[in-house]
Amino acid sequence: MTEHTLTVAGVAVDTRHWIGGRRVASAETFTDVSPIDGSVIGEISRGTALEAAAAVAAAKAAFPAWAATSRAERARILHAVADGVEKRIEELSIVETTDNGALLRSHRRGVMPRVAHNFRFFADWLLKLEHEDFETRGHTNHVSWDPAGPSVLITPWNAPLMLATWKVAPALAAGNTVVLKPAEWSPLTASLLADIAAEAGLPAGVLNVVQGYGSEVGDALTSHPDVRRISFTGSVPTARRIAESAAGNLTPLSLELGGKSPLLVFADADLDLAVDLAVEQYDNAGQVCLAATRFLVEESVAKEFTRRFVEKAATLTQGDPRHETTDIGPNIHPRQLEKIDAFVQRALAAGARAVIGGHRKDTQYYAPTLLTDVAQDSEIVQEEVFGPVLTLQTFSTEEEAVRLANDTRFGLAATLATADAERAERVTAQLVAGTVWVNCFFVRDLQAPFGGSRHSGVGREGGTWSFDFYCDVKNTVTAPNGWKNHG
Ligand code: NAD
Repeated sequence: MTEHTLTVAGVAVDTRHWIGGRRVASAETFTDVSPIDGSVIGEISRGTALEAAAAVAAAKAAFPAWAATSRAERARILHAVADGVEKRIEELSIVETTDNGALLRSHRRGVMPRVAHNFRFFADWLLKLEHEDFETRGHTNHVSWDPAGPSVLITPWNAPLMLATWKVAPALAAGNTVVLKPAEWSPLTASLLADIAAEAGLPAGVLNVVQGYGSEVGDALTSHPDVRRISFTGSVPTARRIAESAAGNLTPLSLELGGKSPLLVFADADLDLAVDLAVEQYDNAGQVCLAATRFLVEESVAKEFTRRFVEKAATLTQGDPRHETTDIGPNIHPRQLEKIDAFVQRALAAGARAVIGGHRKDTQYYAPTLLTDVAQDSEIVQEEVFGPVLTLQTFSTEEEAVRLANDTRFGLAATLATADAERAERVTAQLVAGTVWVNCFFVRDLQAPFGGSRHSGVGREGGTWSFDFYCDVKNTVTAPNGWKNHG
């Protein structure tokens, strides 16, 4: 324990950066606050361009040895990191819940096991990563994935460790070294990850963690000429700034951004299933990029769908996310709550009707809200709220459903409720979305491509797509039977 150690729900968390295998304190700090009750958790080292440059230098120095480490050894260490995560699931869960307010039971049962799985999956995928050789006029083509170099990974607060490790694991598996910049509203589990990785034997400098405000450390990381990849999950305005900052070096970017995804409910759907899918959209107090926040319901069943939705939503319990029976926790920050409420009040002033909710409960909690009588071109239908705020519109034909579904600047996901398989196929083919779920929601296999279209993102990650991004993919052509120059 040092003066830089916080005890969070009984768990010791170092508040300093992790650079080149040692803890580094900044002169300045920022205050980390719990969304559960607004209480101060503690002071966290607040990075500057100096720490950002030191972390990139550490990642650069560690890169040649890590890139030269065999695939088997890299995979072994990543599995050891997964073991460390699994041993500390309880600690990681309570620290994450304290820091970002998401449900403790979800962290324990779903999120933290998934964090461990991120490491195991990419370790195993690395070992089977290959492309079948192919022939061109007697010459052999062989595809390989070379580590690209230091990678900057910048992540948001809504699922901090899950989203961080969804990038850290493939980047490390690829043979890259990493500088992770967690969000300033939820920095704690990234610090615990640094401890776990060091205990698992990850060499110094291979994973570095720099905390702080994006506006203060971001540019130093994303404009650095020694950085070979930038993977960012967050908002569209920040993505634009990062793209500008990276442009000088043409650093390849992967961008996972916001959404305004639709849930299409056709009259032939199993309405109970449709309602289950709909209520699920309040998960994490609506702070889920993939959330289907726009209900598009066929007119003939809209009344009944709404009745059942209201009935079901009334059974949800809102409150302390540490309690086993809570379904909806707080929003991340009073500032976020103000933003959410401002969206809702502007929508109500423009003529929307709150079927349920439409107001805050206090400074941290927002009442689950469903708004109807909303116009397609209105702000509430077009812009991501990132809170427990959903809208409902109706349609009368399949063409209209598709048109409304595609009519925003986003394209992250879409969910369909229909009993007609042919309709599902027809509609899916017309939707602009990185992921489409038919009669299900949030089922994600790490080998599947993940990402968004339009303003929801650039590129795809997952399985081989992650290695395609984090590596310099190389094709080697040999002439086993002599060069046949047809030129
Ligand atoms: P944000 O863009 O405000 O911040 C994300 C991260 O970027 C934070 O770590 C922040 O410190 C950093 N940052 C801020 N300014 C920066 C700069 N100039 N340079 C470099 N880094 C900078 O986003 P947020 O509010 O933390 O997250 C919510 C957003 O993330 C929503 O839009 C949500 O939809 C999106 N999101 C997308 C996915 C996805 O997979 N598509 C997943 C989760 C969240």
